[in-house]
Order: sequence, then structure tokens, then C-alpha cells
Amino acid sequence: MQLIFWGVRGSYPVPGPATVRYGGHTSCVELRSHNGECLVVDAGTGLRGLGKKLAGENFHSDETEYNLVLSHVHWDHIQGLPFFEPAYMGGSKIVVHAPRAAADELRQVIGGITRHEFFPVDLDAVPASFEFREVLPGREFKIGAFELLPIGLNHPFGAVGYRIDADGNSMAYISDTAPFDRMLHKQHFTAAPEEPSVEDRKVLDDMRTALVKALEDVDTVIYDTHFTSDEYEHFPHWGHSTPDHALDICEQAGVRQLILYHHAPAHDDNMMDKIGAEYRQKGSKQGVSVLVAREHMQLTVGVTTNPGVAP
Ligand SMILES: [Zn+2]
Ligand SMILES: [Zn+2]
Repeated sequence: MQLIFWGVRGSYPVPGPATVRYGGHTSCVELRSHNGECLVVDAGTGLRGLGKKLAGENFHSDETEYNLVLSHVHWDHIQGLPFFEPAYMGGSKIVVHAPRAAADELRQVIGGITRHEFFPVDLDAVPASFEFREVLPGREFKIGAFELLPIGLNHPFGAVGYRIDADGNSMAYISDTAPFDRMLHKQHFTAAPEEPSVEDRKVLDDMRTALVKALEDVDTVIYDTHFTSDEYEHFPHWGHSTPDHALDICEQAGVRQLILYHHAPAHDDNMMDKIGAEYRQKGSKQGVSVLVAREHMQLTVGVTTNPGVAP
């Protein structure tokens, strides 16, 4: 299984001279099985580049199905959808797998981003057909060569991670999530941190246990490490983790390789270099190899090599 990173940022895109090396696009990762099947994970602005590549590959096909799995529907995970080139090719079928946001139907939520006030082409007016499938934590499903296990995460209004097995190997995509000790994120956003109740603590413990179990012996884990430890102390109610939180989970689960991901917009290339150096060292002490996600970085799951950069 191959991974190619098309967007590695959280919150909003930050193109410019300070982010040239790590990239400015928001969350989007391409997975490829040995036989060439493609699975798209999250649809931030990185999806535009991936869509262009896929449209080129399938230019001569009459019918092509594209599968997109989403962690949740916050902007930085869906904003690339209106710019996904295969949506404008007749014969494309786009299947979106995602957890449901609040009580609304998925089609309604995702269709909302193409309301005429925001975007001129309505979802129903594009040549491709869309299908929406709801995912639930713990309910496994299969997409071609890929076996997926959705995992409940600790994030305002909820998010799911995925363990994905294919070709006898495994990876996981864990974005977005806060750690599982300070507060339980619910179906609202709080302006300040909230102390967890006894019941909340039990939910958090169960969530953490389920996550560690799901990640057991996974080869490569992509994890939300939006904050440094200092930043986290100011914003524990924003629903994101630090590299320390990610390392602890990966160490406990026996993960081989951790990829730091969902970088804060303010973290420029120099800062990402520093974070990478610090956590490569910490990781080696904890038995976990650490990489920092970069736009266009590609690597093969289960293989230790210097990751290349996709053309
Ligand atoms: Zn996010
Ligand atoms: Zn989010």
C-alpha cells in the first residue's frame, strides 16, 4: 500500500514562501493498493491536485468510481470537494463515506457547501453522480482492496479515524482528535476548557482503549499533531493533539512509524524542521520511528526508506 500526501495542514490553507517545503494545503491523503486501486482520505484543498491527477488517469474511461472517506465535515476536510475534477466528468461516480454531522443527512451537509451563495455549481448539477454512505465507529466495511475500521475520536461535534488494511499491511489515519484525559468533546464547542465529569472520564477511557486496540501492531499511523505542548496548554478545548500525545498512543499500540500531520497554519517550514528533529529523537527512545508529513511526500507502508516526493 502506498501513501501520497496532497494536503498536510489543519484549519486553513497557508500557501507562501514560509510553507514551500512542507506545503500549505489542507488535509488530503491518497492511498494506493498494489493493484492500483485508489482510496482518498479527506477532501481538504489538497484534493484539487489529486483530482487533477485522477482525471488524467481516467480520461478515457466511460465509467469510474471514486471513493472518498472523510474523518468529519469541518472545512479543512471538505473544502477541496467543489474543485475535484472527476466531479465534472460524466460517467464518474463519487462515493463519499463519512460520519454523520449532528442530525442532518450527509448529502444535505456536503451539498450545503455548493449552495449558490457560496459556489455557482450545485452538487445536483455536476455531471458526476454522488452517493453518501454513513460510517459508524466500530462498524467495519470494505472498499475494493481496502478494509476499513472507523474509530471514534475526541473532537468537537465528533470525528472518526480509520484503520485501513490492504495487501497484508496496515495504516491508520487519526485526524482530528484531542487527547483522552483533559476534556471530553461533545456536540458543542466550548469557549474554555471544561472539567470532565466522572461519566465523561469513563467515556474518554473507553475511547482511548478502543483507539489503542484498533492501532495494535499497525505499521504506519498518520496522527493529528496540530499543537506543540505549549500551544496545547492554551487551547485544550480546540480538539487537537500534540506529538507527545500521538507518540504515547503509538508506543502503547506497538506502532512502527508515526507521521505527524494536520500542522497548525502558523507552523512554518523552520518550525516544522525543529519539531521533526525533536520528535525523531524522542520517538527513537520510545521505539517509534517519526516522520513529518510533507505535501507530495510518498511512501510505501511496511517499508523503511527515505520518503520520496511525488512529481
Ligand atoms: Zn481539521
Ligand atoms: Zn475538525
